[in-house]
Amino acid sequence: MTDRREQLAENLAAVREQIAEACRDAGRPLDQVKLLAVTKTFPASDAILLAELGVTDFAENRDQEAAPKAAEVALALPDTPVRWHMVGRMQRNKARSVVGWADEVQSVDSPRLAAALAKAVAAARTHGRRDEPLSVLIQASLDGDTERGGVPLSGLLELADEIGRSSELILRGVMGVAPLSMDPAAAFALLSKAAARVRSDHPTAVELSAGMSGDLAAAIRQGSTCVRVGTGLFGYRGLASP
Ligand SMILES: *Cc1c(COP(=O)(O)O)cnc(C)c1O
Repeated sequence: MTDRREQLAENLAAVREQIAEACRDAGRPLDQVKLLAVTKTFPASDAILLAELGVTDFAENRDQEAAPKAAEVALALPDTPVRWHMVGRMQRNKARSVVGWADEVQSVDSPRLAAALAKAVAAARTHGRRDEPLSVLIQASLDGDTERGGVPLSGLLELADEIGRSSELILRGVMGVAPLSMDPAAAFALLSKAAARVRSDHPTAVELSAGMSGDLAAAIRQGSTCVRVGTGLFGYRGLASP
């Protein structure tokens, strides 16, 4: 077996090259696209290795897995600032815990979840456990099938206004996943247009989180500012993964 650090370094270089090539193709500056390393199902040791290789942003989709992993990374690298992003469907009763480890929640898809997060941030502020508001992205559902999370495009602006009224949340943008039933380029074009509408009402909403290992080039062509890469960095996830 090859050394894990070497393997991750190689994968990281390949993913960065893919991002760079897509940016060149799209005529966009490289620094407009942030890389989020999606560590779900992979151990904290992998996140630590990647952080040592210069990756600053990590994402998880389950609170139960993310909370201890983020804590382990912080313990191992006390002087390395890393940011954690929640990108999975979450229940409102997890808001308190998620606010404890996440710097950003990209999967806000209902006013009730937004309200629960705002309340958790307020409580954390009261207890001195946090002084910043929470950055959030609205997850949009491009095919209207909300089973996998996301607010239908028809509800996007209303949810954006709702979040905009909260002093505990900062609306940073829109996140989406290309549905299997759609051509990724068409899906991301639709998402990009929706994100632009949100941005015109909410100037802080500059982020478009779009693109994963298999479709990041298409997403970057449509204006993605944040790609979420798991498989491309860490390899295939086991069958037990969500
Ligand atoms: C797992 C996951 C990813 C990463 O997917 P890969 O295909 O492994 O790159 C991106 N976004 C979300 C929301 C995910 O749950």
